[in-house]
Order: sequence, then structure tokens, then C-alpha cells
Amino acid sequence: MTSEVLPPSDKYVILHIDDESEQLFFAKTFLEEADSELEIVSVRTADDLMKHLDTCIDCIVSDYVMPDVNGMDLCKRVKRVQDIPFIMYTGRGSEVVAEAAFQAGVDDYVRKEADPSHYQLLARRIKSHAESHRRKREESRYQKRLEGVREILPVISSANTMEDVTTRTLNVLDEIMGYRNTCFWLINDYSADPVKRLGDSPELSLGVDELKDGITQRLLDDGYVLVVPLFMDVVYGYLTAYQATPFSQTDYPLMEAISLLVGQAVNRVKQVETISASEKQFRNIVENVQDVIVLTKPEGSINYISPSAEIFHYKPSKLVDHMWGELVVSEDLGKIAEFYNSSLAGNKGKINEYRIQGGDGEVYWVSHSWAPVVVDGVVKHVVSAVNDITWRKRIETTLYTSLEELEKANRDLNDFTHIVSHDLKAPLMTIESFSDFLLEDYFDVLDETGQEYLDSILKASNNMRELIDNLLTLSRVGRINTEYSKVDLNVLLAEIKEELKPQIDMKQAIVTGNNLPELVTQRTWIKQVLMNLIGNGIKFNETNPPRVEITYTETETGYQFKVRDNGIGIPEDQHEHLFKLFQRLEHTNHYPGTGAGLSICKKIIESLGGEIWVESQEGYGSSFIFTVPDGAVEEDADSQVGQAVHVDGLVER
Ligand code: ADP
Repeated sequence: MTSEVLPPSDKYVILHIDDESEQLFFAKTFLEEADSELEIVSVRTADDLMKHLDTCIDCIVSDYVMPDVNGMDLCKRVKRVQDIPFIMYTGRGSEVVAEAAFQAGVDDYVRKEADPSHYQLLARRIKSHAESHRRKREESRYQKRLEGVREILPVISSANTMEDVTTRTLNVLDEIMGYRNTCFWLINDYSADPVKRLGDSPELSLGVDELKDGITQRLLDDGYVLVVPLFMDVVYGYLTAYQATPFSQTDYPLMEAISLLVGQAVNRVKQVETISASEKQFRNIVENVQDVIVLTKPEGSINYISPSAEIFHYKPSKLVDHMWGELVVSEDLGKIAEFYNSSLAGNKGKINEYRIQGGDGEVYWVSHSWAPVVVDGVVKHVVSAVNDITWRKRIETTLYTSLEELEKANRDLNDFTHIVSHDLKAPLMTIESFSDFLLEDYFDVLDETGQEYLDSILKASNNMRELIDNLLTLSRVGRINTEYSKVDLNVLLAEIKEELKPQIDMKQAIVTGNNLPELVTQRTWIKQVLMNLIGNGIKFNETNPPRVEITYTETETGYQFKVRDNGIGIPEDQHEHLFKLFQRLEHTNHYPGTGAGLSICKKIIESLGGEIWVESQEGYGSSFIFTVPDGAVEEDADSQVGQAVHVDGLVER
């Protein structure tokens, strides 16, 4: 149980020496009765008196003549040890004795009287000396402590950790204030934890709301506790000191000063801890990202570079104070001028790729983005993230080479097809011509078998001519007739119908396509596609009348066309084979053809940037669908891009 007490008012302790016990008894009784603030400690010998001397004694009252010593010698002996009021109290007084006594350093001289009322006088004299002595003593102790507190100011305020703050504070309480049993408490979640103790400090159960703004002193069963709150906007802790006797009120301002000092030290330590925690967090992030994080000063020299710099085989510490540009391959130096210029102007930016020289002599490709740190309108630092894209560049180069090789192989194959087809045509023409001669001039001379052979030769050479023509067409796609022009598909369809007239008339077919659009495309090739698809729609058709209908929808970049027929249809499991060269489906073998038409369509559509596919079911007709970009839409888009940002001649989309 603790209870708060008023500031201390302890009794004045007086040492009274006399060789006669009766004298001692009467004096103690009367003096303590005359003034309740006096506490008389009686001793009979000089040695006993010397043993009792300590800083708590407020005054000495001494007999003059004693068997082992006289009062004046005793006074000298005491004064040598301690400056304390000494009152000579004797029945043998004379002016001579009094004079000698004052010379020996005695502070007062009171005569013993038979009448007990003289104790009143003695008590007043004792009290007056004791009071002024105690005042002087308090003052000198206060001065000493004040000096001490002044000296230790830097000790507490330079503490770097909480442990440091608490240890130094408790040492200060011990060394300067003389408090032996002290404790440093911190409040967390409304309960106080003793952080560190010195000596034998008692457990205190103090709630935050119990803590007053100022210092309080509490009375325990066996002593006193001084409670000093620690403030920083709110009470965040307190110091306690415990001792058997009351604490002097003169120490309060000193304790207040110390608590302020401790508050500032704790505040500083907490701020440093918060800053170092967030710095640690930042470092953690920076040191664990794959990018190399570089902090440069506005003039461009490196201030910090993350450990990931090792991916370029550099030791981060070796790069500090160097310019980032020193790492850049000389041909690419022009590219990073943009980094220096735009970051200095306070702008973020990115360079997609440039080369740096690694610490191992290898060249690395990097992409580099940066953001300046601007404080009060001034660029203080520039933070950059440099990403190693060497692997991507390698893949790109490999892909590019493979693509080039593929294109070359394709070109060679086309040339080969073209040459072979072309060369095949000459002997074929000879065969055809001589077959025609035979037919015209010798038909009648041939017997029936000979006529059948001639017929087979003519059919086979016709078929071969068709094949060679198809191959030639295929090899020409994307090479010739590639110029774009405005094509009115209604006009084109009329032309196609005219060319397909024999087939149309033969099967009484109906080919429709209403209000078809006008688009910018390669006329020859789009005509070839429509010719093939419409031709197939009529050819693979047993319905009467065969119908082929062309419809369309608009897309973002052009059109999607559908060529639908009411023909024999295509089994679904055959769809994927249709567009392969020379693929003819089994159930259509009896129809004429080479199996090259759809692969020509596919090659044309893809070279125009579109797609082609089929939707069909056996017996339910077929729909061939293809998309084709409109050159006019692309031109529009290009002219808009023309207004977009141009960086180094590149267009950023
Ligand atoms: P060809 O017409 O010379 O046979 P294509 O490449 O044009 O060659 O067509 C390949 C095959 O696809 C045809 O042999 C036929 O089996 C099938 N086919 C193409 N168009 C149609 C269609 N409209 N209806 C049914 N089958 C078709």
C-alpha cells in the first residue's frame, strides 16, 4: 500500500552530550516537550558522540566539564570533522569561560538553570541554530547537485539506445542525486514495465491515470518513494527513487530538469529507431529486387548502388563516386545524355535499351528508368532502376536470325517453284501442240484404243497445265501484283461472274453479293480468293440451283467476308486438311481440280494480314470466312500515329 505524502518535514536531530544521565534524561524530556520538532539523541562520552556524527545531525548540545573531555576540546574535535552548530550548555559558566568557548568555535552558550523553564530558552536557541544549519546544508547540497546536473546534461542527451538512456539516467540519479534505489519505467498499453533497476527499489503498481504531471512523493510501509513522470506530449514512463527517509523538496526542480532531459533523449532514440527501421526496410527492398538500384547525385555521380550490381560483375562500393556514364559503351553514350538532361530537369524517364561494359569485360544490354527526388523544387537525387535485358536481346537476335533464314528459305523455295513450273510449261506446250496435231490430222487413222490414248494424253496435259498454273500462282503471291488500290467489290464480283460464266451457266448457279464494300487492297489477289471460293461453291454442289452468297461485316481494321454455298458440305474432321497444298478430300475425288485452290487462298489472305477458316457440315453447305484489313483504315491509323510522340526517330505506339 502506498500513500502520497506532503513534502518532507522531518524532525531536527540534536546530539546531547553529558556525563550525567539525569541531566540527559531531563533535557530530552523537557526539550522534546518544549518543541515537538526536536528529537534529542543522548550520549555520554565523546567517542559515542563522534560515532553518531553524520549529515543528519542538526545541532550538538554539550556539557562543559566531563570526565574524559572538556566541552571546548570536544567542539574543536567536532568542527574538524563537520561544520555543525555547537551549543555549550553548562552550570559553571562565567564570562571568561564563555569568551574562551566562543574562541574555540562554539556557536552559542546557554547556562544550565535549576528552573526547568530555561529549557524553553534552550529549545528556542537549539531550533534557531538547527534551522539555519539545515538551510545552509540544503543549500550547499542543492548547489552541488545543480552543478552535477549541469555537468551530466551531455551524458544523457548523447545516449544512442534505450538501454543507454536508462543506464545513464539511473547512474545520474545515483551519482548526482545520491539516490541508491532507483527504477526506470516505461508505459506500454497502459501498464508500466520496469526497464531497468538500480539497487533495492520496491514494486509500484501505478496506473497511467494515477500519474500526476508533477513529481510526487509516496509513503510506503518502510520508506518513501519519489515518482517522477516522463513526458513527451503524454506521460510515457516514470522514474522512481526509494529511500527510508523523506526526499528533500529542494531536489524537485532538479528532478524535473533531469526528467525533461531524459524525455528528450528517449524521443531522439525513438526517432532514430523509427528512421533506422524504415531505412532498413528500404534497404531490404532495394537489395532484394532484381534491378540494380542506383542513387545518383544531381551532377550524375553515383551515391549508392545496390548489391545487385554484381550481376554486371562490379563491386558496388567500387562504383560509388563514379559517373554512371563511365560504364556505358562509347557508341551508346548519346543515348544516356537523355537520362542526365531529363532527370536534371526533374523529369521521370526510360531508355529502352543501351549497352554497358561489365566488370568482367562483357557487354550487357540494359533498360534504364529513373525518377528524380525533388525537394522544394530542387533535384536532390535521381533514383534509377537498371534492368539486365541481355538474355532478351540474345533471344531476339536468335529469333531475328532464324526469321531471316526462314524467309530466305521461303524465297528460295518460291523461286525454285517458279523456275520449275515455268520450265515445265515449255515441254508441256510441246506435248499439247503435238497432241493437237494428232487430234486434227491423224484422229481418223487411229483405231479406238489409239483415240482413247490420245484423249488421256490431252486430259493429263490439261490437268498438268492447271497444276503448273496453280504452282505459278502460289509462287507469285506476295511477290508480284502487290500494289494496293481502291477496289469496289461489287464491280469485282461482276467481273468474276463474267469469267466464271461457263460454270455458272452450266449448273444454272446463282451467285449473289449485295452492296459489297469498297476497300483498299491488292486487287489481283482478292479477286483470286473470291474466284477460288465462288468456283468451289459452284463445283462442289449438287443442289438445284446451286447458290453462292457473299456477305460481310466490318471489323476494327477492315472486313470479314463470308462465302456461303448450299453444296455438299465438308465433314468436320476434314476441316484442318483443306488448306494444305494438293489436299483433296476423298469424297470429292470425282470433281475436277488440283487441290491447290484453298492453299492459294490461305497464302494470299495471310500475306494481306488476314485469316481464313471454314464452317461446314457434310450435306449442309459450306461457309468460307476470311478477314482482310482495309488499307484505308491502316492509312488513317498511320496518319494519327504521325502526330504521336517521336523519340529518336522511333514511333512510340
Ligand atoms: P480443288 O478445288 O482443286 O480440289 P481446293 O484447294 O480448292 O482444291 O479445295 C480442296 C478440297 O476442299 C477440295 O478438293 C474439296 O474436297 C474441298 N472443298 C473445297 N471447297 C469446297 C466446297 N465449297 N464444298 C465442299 N468441299 C470443298
